[in-house]
Amino acid sequence: MDKREFLKASGAIVAGSMLPRAARGQEITGPRQNWAGNLTYSTDRLYTPASVDEVRQAVRSCQRLRALGTRHSFNAIADSTANQISLAHLDSIALDEKSRTVTVGAGVTYGKLAPVIDARGWALHNLASLPHISVAGAIATATHGSGLHNGNLATPVSGFEFVTADGEIARLSRDKDGEHFLGAVVGLGALGVVTSVTLDLQPTYQVAQSVYRNLSFDHLKDHFDAIFGAGYSVSLFTDWQNHRATQVWIKRRLAPGDKNEWGHEFFGAALATEKLHPIEGHSAEACTDQQGLPGPWYERLPHFKMNFTPSSGRELQTEYLVPRDRGYEAILAVEKLRDQITPHLFVTELRTIAPDNLWMSTADRRPSLAIHFTWKPEWPEVSRILPQIEAQLEPFEPRPHWGKLFTVAPAKLQSRYVRLAEFKEQLVRFDPQGKFRNQFLSKNLYTS
Ligand SMILES: Cc1cc2nc3c(=O)[nH]c(=O)nc-3n(C[C@H](O)[C@H](O)[C@H](O)COP(=O)(O)OP(=O)(O)OC[C@H]3O[C@@H](n4cnc5c(N)ncnc54)[C@H](O)[C@@H]3O)c2cc1C
Repeated sequence: MDKREFLKASGAIVAGSMLPRAARGQEITGPRQNWAGNLTYSTDRLYTPASVDEVRQAVRSCQRLRALGTRHSFNAIADSTANQISLAHLDSIALDEKSRTVTVGAGVTYGKLAPVIDARGWALHNLASLPHISVAGAIATATHGSGLHNGNLATPVSGFEFVTADGEIARLSRDKDGEHFLGAVVGLGALGVVTSVTLDLQPTYQVAQSVYRNLSFDHLKDHFDAIFGAGYSVSLFTDWQNHRATQVWIKRRLAPGDKNEWGHEFFGAALATEKLHPIEGHSAEACTDQQGLPGPWYERLPHFKMNFTPSSGRELQTEYLVPRDRGYEAILAVEKLRDQITPHLFVTELRTIAPDNLWMSTADRRPSLAIHFTWKPEWPEVSRILPQIEAQLEPFEPRPHWGKLFTVAPAKLQSRYVRLAEFKEQLVRFDPQGKFRNQFLSKNLYTS
C-alpha cells in the first residue's frame, strides 16, 4: 500500500466511525433534494424498509417521521427535520380481475403499474401529466389529470393499508368505512405510512391525442364546457399573452370502430402538423405521441413519456383549483397580471377536474378548473407574484395544490376545507402525539 492509498483507507475508516450509526433499514445519506432541486430536505435520516414489518419497526422507533414518495412535490409537504421513510422497495402489484381492482405496494409508480395492468387488459381512469410519481404520493396530495368527468387520482382508491403511529396496521375501505374512508384517502401523509393501495380498474382502452394552436380566450366565454369537453381529457396551455391559449391538447378515448378524424380547425385554432412540447422551443421528444396516433391509455394520458425528463426539469410549480362554473372569470382575473407573470413563466396549463367527496381533496364537492403555472427557477420573483395571483383569485376561493408552491394564509386555506375539523379529529385517532406532523402541516392546518 503506498502512502496515498494508506491515507485514503485510514481516512475512510475515521470518517466511517464518525458517522452516526444507522438503525435497521435506515440510511444516513447526506443532503437530499426534491425532484426539482428547489428544496433540500431538513434531515439526512431516511428509512428504506424492505417489508411492512420493517415499516412498523421504523415507525415504532421514531418520535417524528414523514413518508416520502418519489420527491416530486415542490413544497415541504414531505419534509421532516427528524426522519423520512421511503417505501420504494414495497413495489408489489397484485391484480384481482374478479373485483376489477389492483393492489399496489406504496413504492409503485404509475409508470411501473400501467404497462403491467394494460398487458392483462386493464386500465386506470386517468393519469397526471407525468407517470414518474408514486401512487401513494399522488393520492396523498389529490394529484389530478384533466377531464370534465374525471375525478382526481385519489378517486379510484377503494381501500388502503397504513401503519399508524403506534406501529399497528390499519385498513380502510370505501365499502366498509364510509365517512372515515372519505376523510382519509387524501391524507397529506398525516395519518400514517401507507403501505399499500387498492385501485379500481376498467377494461383497457385506446386514446388518440392531437394539438391545436392559438385558441382565443374569447371562445371560453360561451363555450367553456364545449372546449374542455371536446375530449376525454383536455388541456389548454398559455403564456398569458395575446388573450389566447397557445396550444390545446385534446385526448380522445377511442371505442372500437370509432372514427379517429380531427378537423383542421377547433374554435378558430389550427391543427398542429408537427409534434409539440407545451413549452414553446423545447424539443417534443419527451412528449407522448400526438397527431391523432392511437395508442394505449398510459402512453397518451400523460403529456410526458416515462423514460424522459418531464416538463422542463429545472422549474417551480404552482396550481390553484377554482369552481369550474366561474372558470372563465378566474382566467380573466389572472390575465390582468400577464406582464408580471410571463417573464418568469415557462407555461400555464388549464385543466378540469370532476368533483369528489374526499374531505381534503382540492376538488371536494366542487367541479373545478385548475390554473397551473410552470415557473422558471426564480423563487425570489415567483414568491412576489404568488400573493398577487392569490389576491386576484380570492373571489373564487382557490384551493392550492397540496404538493406545489403557494403563499395562501393558513386561516384562508383552512376555511376552504369544510371537513377540516373532522379530518383533524381523525388524525388524533391514528396519530395522537402528532408523530407524522411536520412544519408544513403545523403551519397550514394548525396555525391561524
Ligand atoms: C414535473 C412534474 C409534473 C407534475 N404534474 C402534475 C399533474 O399533472 N397533476 C398534479 O396534480 N400534480 C402534478 N405534479 C405534482 C405531483 O403529482 C405531486 O406533488 C405528488 O404528490 C408527487 O408524488 P410523489 O410520489 O413524488 O410524493 P412526494 O412528493 O414525495 O410526497 C407527497 C406527499 O405524499 C406523502 N406520501 C408519499 N408516500 C406516502 C406513503 N407511503 N404514506 C403516506 N404518505 C405518503 C408525503 O408524505 C407527502 O405528504 C407534478 C410534479 C412534477 C415534478
